[in-house]
Amino acid sequence: MSLPRRVLVANRGEVARRVFRTCRRLGIGTVAVFSDADADAPHVHEADLAVRLRGVAPTDTYLRGDLLVDAALRSGADAVHPGYGFLSEDAAFARAVIGAGLTWIGPPPEAIEAMGSKLAAKARMAAAGVPVLAGGDATGLDHDALHALAADAGYPVLVKASAGGGGRGMRLVRTAGELADAVRSAEREAESAFGDGTVFVEKYVEAPRHVEVQVLADRHGNVVHLFERECSIQRRHQKLIEESPSPAVDDELRERIGKAAVTAAAEVGYVGAGTVELILTPDGEFAFLEMNTRLQVEHPVTELVTGLDLVEWQLRVAGGEPLSPEVTGAAVTGHAIEARLYAEDPAHDYRPATGALHRFSIAELEGVRVDSGVEDASTVSPHYDPMLAKVIAWAPTRDEAIRRLAAALAGARIHGVVTNRDLLVSILGQDDFQSGRTDTAFLERHDPVALTAARRPAGTVRLHAAAAALAVQAHRRATATTWRQAPSGWRNSPSQPQRCTLIGDGRELEVNYALGRDAVQLSVDGEAIALDLMSASANEVDLEVDGVRHRLEVSIRGATIDIDSSLGSTSFAVAPRFVEPGSQLAAGSLIAPMPGSVVRVAVAQGDTVEAGQLLIVLEAMKMEHPVTAPTSGTVTSLAVTAGQQVDGGQVLAVVEPASEADGG
Ligand code: ADP
Ligand code: ADP
Ligand code: MG
Repeated sequence: MSLPRRVLVANRGEVARRVFRTCRRLGIGTVAVFSDADADAPHVHEADLAVRLRGVAPTDTYLRGDLLVDAALRSGADAVHPGYGFLSEDAAFARAVIGAGLTWIGPPPEAIEAMGSKLAAKARMAAAGVPVLAGGDATGLDHDALHALAADAGYPVLVKASAGGGGRGMRLVRTAGELADAVRSAEREAESAFGDGTVFVEKYVEAPRHVEVQVLADRHGNVVHLFERECSIQRRHQKLIEESPSPAVDDELRERIGKAAVTAAAEVGYVGAGTVELILTPDGEFAFLEMNTRLQVEHPVTELVTGLDLVEWQLRVAGGEPLSPEVTGAAVTGHAIEARLYAEDPAHDYRPATGALHRFSIAELEGVRVDSGVEDASTVSPHYDPMLAKVIAWAPTRDEAIRRLAAALAGARIHGVVTNRDLLVSILGQDDFQSGRTDTAFLERHDPVALTAARRPAGTVRLHAAAAALAVQAHRRATATTWRQAPSGWRNSPSQPQRCTLIGDGRELEVNYALGRDAVQLSVDGEAIALDLMSASANEVDLEVDGVRHRLEVSIRGATIDIDSSLGSTSFAVAPRFVEPGSQLAAGSLIAPMPGSVVRVAVAQGDTVEAGQLLIVLEAMKMEHPVTAPTSGTVTSLAVTAGQQVDGGQVLAVVEPASEADGG
């Protein structure tokens, strides 16, 4: 019995990198797998060896157990770590790994199976004395039996998919009239998402807390718990911010939930790291929700308060080592909080964002850990989970951990893709969060759109727009050939009034300015901003407003400008450049001025169009932009479809003017 020699991680992104980090520290070899979309991903470069999985869709790649086992055998791996998501809770995959003579870094397949059906798991837990919420199987019940089941549980009830995960397949039912429809639609969703249409009814707890217990078990019968995590800050029943310890759990409750979790794990013969998820009701009662038979996304908060490396213990346990006194005697020191940074737009119903991540850097300040799946110039693909990174802060107290985490997030440089960063920073700043009043309804009481907007002080976008305009001006001067010989300082050259129209923060802003020899007159949307300009370049604008000096970091990429300052970050695009084909493009080419997504395609290839007719609606910088025909003619090429992501400069369509098209 010993540690594996070479581990294949059957996963991608953040979790693959996380597992590799521990393997490297322990001198264990690493093997990555990658889809065609991930050929250049950081997790691939970090591994000793990497095996390609042809295709892009998860069903062709990361969900193909046969290919993954084959990859392990071909690369000389002797163990497989499944990460989370994908096949991590697939008993058949675990069996295939074991059957191939490889070590499975996870629980026994029987334990995965026992917890794989939430319905069966609840029954088993109840029998073992672990509290569960009232409810039962809704499959195949006639009208009366179904209504009796829900009435017994007591409205409101939740209709849940037994095989569910990732917050999907749930329907809240407040009155009997909605029950039958909810069951039917949950069944359909469960069938298509999980291949198992079994649904059950469960008592719905209003504004509960999600508290879960980390467990660790070895092959020698030792099962311990490593305290709790509170994961109540959720959107769409999915976790956003997690912490340990929970502000709602005292020593007495910790003891009780810890015992329940150990009982749950022991009941199914659990081995390895797992999580028992509980609902904590407002009156302090708890009930078993489900067990996740894998490493969890939020495991780092437990690592930071216990000082243990959970991946290391997964490896040790898989190799047959018993839990050491360091584990069995673990204690909590300080407080840790994790925020999940997603490429998604909270202002648009958390819609996932994709595209080129031009810059991605988060400083690992004291006490801050960053587990990321991306780096500068990574591509955020639409095919996989939109989580970019987790930022985790540890400090002696909860207050300090909150401040460290907020500072790390606020100081992050993230360009090219919309994220939930502002929302996260704003949540951390709320009184309710800071005083520990966190329950799963937090983001219903606090509107995410308002929270996102509130993150930046009033006037920030205008000041950022001013800086962007000044930086663009400086950039033009620096790159204009006629100015090459001119003195570099802009102050030597008083300018005519200039105008720059920018799109940012979901609106258009017009900046008018004139640079004098030693003064600048500037207005945004007609409102003057009194500022003293120290210097402006394409990289930085240094200015003073109301006696306060601001250094604003600038990054210009084509028509896109990112401003980062102590006030927050704003992305702008210089507008409008929709009908401005570059010299190398075919006449009539319509190009995307900035990265965005195609909302609608209003024409088909070959259509005859009138000048000004709507062709495509593009959404970029949180605004919809109609792309219209520059002339009457024929759509000779249509390069995009609705829903597609486009990069700045990409050709969307070509309209050949009427006369040419006729002649050709
Ligand atoms: P947790 O409680 O650990 O957040 P989830 O069930 O929400 O558990 O899923 C864990 C993580 O695994 C998700 O955040 C996501 O990153 C990833 N994941 C879940 N399902 C999938 C899937 N089908 N494909 C890819 N990744 C997935
Ligand atoms: P998943 O497998 O998708 O993680 P869970 O059963 O763990 O499903 O539930 C996910 C989330 O949904 C919980 O964290 C909680 O916020 C909410 N939830 C689930 N069941 C209930 C319930 N009975 N009452 C209130 N909220 C619930
Ligand atoms: Mg869950």
